[in-house]
Order: sequence, then C-alpha cells, then structure tokens
Amino acid sequence: MPPYSSLSHLDCPRCHEQHDAHVRQGVCRRCGSPLLARYDLAGVRTSPGDLVGRRNDLWRYHELLPVSAPEHVVSLGEGMTPLLEMPRLAADLGLDTLLVKDDGMLPTGSFKSRGAAVGVSRARELGATRLAMPTNGNAGAAWSAYAARAGLELLVAMPVDAPSITRVETVATGGDLRLVDGLISDAGRMVATAVADDAEDWFDVATLKEPYRIEGKKTMGFEIAEQLGWRMPDVIVYPTGGGVGVIGIHKALTELVELGWVEGPLPRLVCVQSTGCAPIVQAYEAGARESEPWPGARTVAFGINVPKALGDFLVLDAVYATGGTAVAVRDDDLLADVRRTGELEGLFLCPEGAATVTATRLLRDRDWIAADDEVVLLNTGAGLIYPQTVPVDAPTVSRDGTLTLPRPH
Ligand SMILES: *Cc1c(COP(=O)(O)O)cnc(C)c1O
Repeated sequence: MPPYSSLSHLDCPRCHEQHDAHVRQGVCRRCGSPLLARYDLAGVRTSPGDLVGRRNDLWRYHELLPVSAPEHVVSLGEGMTPLLEMPRLAADLGLDTLLVKDDGMLPTGSFKSRGAAVGVSRARELGATRLAMPTNGNAGAAWSAYAARAGLELLVAMPVDAPSITRVETVATGGDLRLVDGLISDAGRMVATAVADDAEDWFDVATLKEPYRIEGKKTMGFEIAEQLGWRMPDVIVYPTGGGVGVIGIHKALTELVELGWVEGPLPRLVCVQSTGCAPIVQAYEAGARESEPWPGARTVAFGINVPKALGDFLVLDAVYATGGTAVAVRDDDLLADVRRTGELEGLFLCPEGAATVTATRLLRDRDWIAADDEVVLLNTGAGLIYPQTVPVDAPTVSRDGTLTLPRPH
C-alpha cells in the first residue's frame, strides 16, 4: 500500500535548516521563519485520473497533505467549492473570461476552514490537546469548530472590533474567547505570553507559527487546477492579509508542476490589500523582500487587516517569482463591488472577495491584465457573515397598503 501521506520533512525557507515532521514544530529554531512541509513527490505514484471517485472534498489530495492516516482526518465536508463563471461581471470589467472560486460555501463561512481542517487534524495526530491563537475573526470561528469536532481545547484572542458573527461562531462551538482591545498583532502578543507563561501543554497555532494551516489552504490551488481540467489560469487574484493563501496557492501549483500533473508557467499571482492596510503593496512597490509594519491599520475588509505578516517575504517571493503584482484598493470601491457583483451575478461576496473585483478593474484599466487573460478571483468568505456591508433602503408596507419610505441616512 502506498502511504496515505507522502510528507517527508519540514524545511526552513529562509535558512534551509531541515526539521523533523514527526513531532510538533513551531517556527524555525534557528532563524524564526515559518516552516514549510515537504513531500516525497518523486515517490508519489498517483496520477490525476486516480482522483476520480475519491471523496469530493480537500482530502482527495491526501498524498499531498500532512495527515498520515484517514482515521486522523477531522472534517466538516470542506473543499471542492464551485469555480463559477462570471460572464456579466467579465463584460463589466472588459474581460473575456472571469471565474470566481467561491470559498464562501465552506463550513463556518470562510476559507479559514481549509487551514483549520488540516491544522487541527495534524495537531491532534501529533498529540496536541490545547490550542491557542490570535485571529481577526474567521480563523477563530473555523478553528473553534474543528477543535470541537476533534475534541481539543481552543483559546481564541480576537480584536474587540472583529465582525461580531465570528464571536458568535466561536462561542457556539465552544471556543474559549478573549476580546482584545487592539489589533491582531496585540492579540498575538497576548497569546504568545499566555502560551509561554503556562506550564501546561499549549500549542500556539497562530498564522504560520505552525506549518500545517498553509497545507490546508494550498488546496485552493489544487482545486483550481483540477476544476480547469488540470491546467492553470493566467492570473489569480487574492485578498492578502497574513498571506497564507498566496503562499499556499504558489506552493500547491509548484508541487503540481513538479509532479507533472500540470504544465507551467505558473499564473501571475496578484496580492490585493486595502489602502487602509497595505504593507505588502508598499514593499512590492519599493521592490523590497520584506514589509514594514503598517501604522494605524484599518479597513472594512477585516480579514486582510494585518499590519505585518510573519510570512511577508514568502508572499513577496511568490509575487516576484510569478511576475505578479500587488495593488491596494479603497474601501468605498470594494463596497461598491459587493453590490455590483451581487446585482450582476447573484453572488454576495465578502468585502475581501470584492476587493479582488476592484483590483481586477484597476489592473484591466492599466492593461496589466489583458482582455483575453483567463482570470480567477478568490472569494474567501460568505457575504452573509458581513451583513453590514449593504445598507437596506426598502419601503415598509402597512396592512392597509400605505407605503412608508425609509428615512435617509
Ligand atoms: C483571513 C482572510 C483573508 C486573508 O487570508 P490570508 O491567507 O491570511 O492572506 C482574506 N479573506 C478572508 C475572508 C479572511 O478571513
């Protein structure tokens, strides 16, 4: 029997120190960089045809995931979200083909469930019982759900102004929630202190502080390639906060090329941020390898409100290596694109997802994207979990038929 997972070791992308993948690991002991999982790709005998008939979720790619046995998989049915054609939105943007990968369909309402499914499964497999994390909301909601399903404890530190629905999700699934007066970076310091002070066995699962969340998120890349018939689009546009999605998609597509399941070149990867928090864009424009902390970070697209990402150098590497770019969009414009996309296509995007529409419009206007480029946008969450993005101006009809117009706001 070929192994369920072909995981071989963990590798530091900065100092290239190798680490044992069979015990729990955080960041690189030597240089503090996030670690990346490496697989024995040459030993993988599976071909794309073998996937036909497998379970229709992200675990269909189990050879390329870190969990060593099917009985260690913790699942709520995540993965294989629709890759939807957007003909009217495409015409509106001046494109022939536009596709949206709708991760708003995932359990807990955002693509964070991909990382949580794989991260929680692997943490439990390696013997963790108590997890702790800072979050801008969606990750806390997702990890709380999967921790509950796995029977693990979870401490969640979330900024007080994170979307309130994600607090509800966290509490509803039994997460131990702390509201932090500050940004995700402040929540991160709170968790790191709690983990360091506590003699008991806490495992810090903050973004990129453990190596397996990214393995879950990379399945977006596998699915895009499989859903296109094992080929790659020209451009992938991604709303970037901690950067795990971009790093993950880049890693996934690189692995597929190495396996010979798809042929290069890789798509140009586009990082989208808000003008209210754009450290990666600033670094890209300066041609830098790392970002500087963004002061006073603020945007309605809360999932991308990350002033300084631990994996910023990996995000920038992915952008440079694929001939991609990074752009910032205004909150007003992305909110307008929530409405426009809903009206044109019936798809209610999350603000982060709408930011990719705005960015595509901008890059099309600059001719950075050509009319015949095949473009894939990532909608990373459900519009439903951000109800405040669309004001409702409906008139009220009383029983006798009198119409009352809404008060202007
Ligand atoms: C977390 C999040 C992002 C940012 O994802 P990263 O992979 O951390 O860059 C984008 N959109 C939503 C809805 C999120 O929750």
